[in-house]
Amino acid sequence: MSSKKPTAGDYIDARCTRCRVITNHTIVAMVEDRPVRVQCNTCGGAHNYHAPKAEKPERVVKSRAAAAPKTPRAAKEARTARTKAAVLEQEQWLAASRDADPTRAVPYSMEGVYKVNNWINHPLFGFGLVVSVVPNKVEILFQDGKKLLRSNN
Ligand SMILES: [Zn+2]
Repeated sequence: MSSKKPTAGDYIDARCTRCRVITNHTIVAMVEDRPVRVQCNTCGGAHNYHAPKAEKPERVVKSRAAAAPKTPRAAKEARTARTKAAVLEQEQWLAASRDADPTRAVPYSMEGVYKVNNWINHPLFGFGLVVSVVPNKVEILFQDGKKLLRSNN
């Protein structure tokens, strides 16, 4: 890339109106520092200069905004909220596990009876802290989030 100002006869990348892609062009006419008319080196067509970047992204944004229904955005926001909750639960788990003694964790069983603040060891989810107990169920905070599991409570 040269920092030299372009002049008529120089090659320049431009969007070709005929090829509809960025191609190499020869500058035909300049106005002050800007090329105004160029000739495509691919198809030979001469046309006004279109900067390679200026128009294209704008078009993409426009067509996307027009085509996109509202729901994906809502879904994305919901996903973000879920991710935030998961990150929060992971932080809670990390904070709790710092003071925990894994050797005191009891293996998880559907027949087990658990109390809040018990540590359990689940074969799939790993170490978890019992955060609440309801009839026949315990809510356990695992590293990848809270899960409601069967119990004998
Ligand atoms: Zn062309």
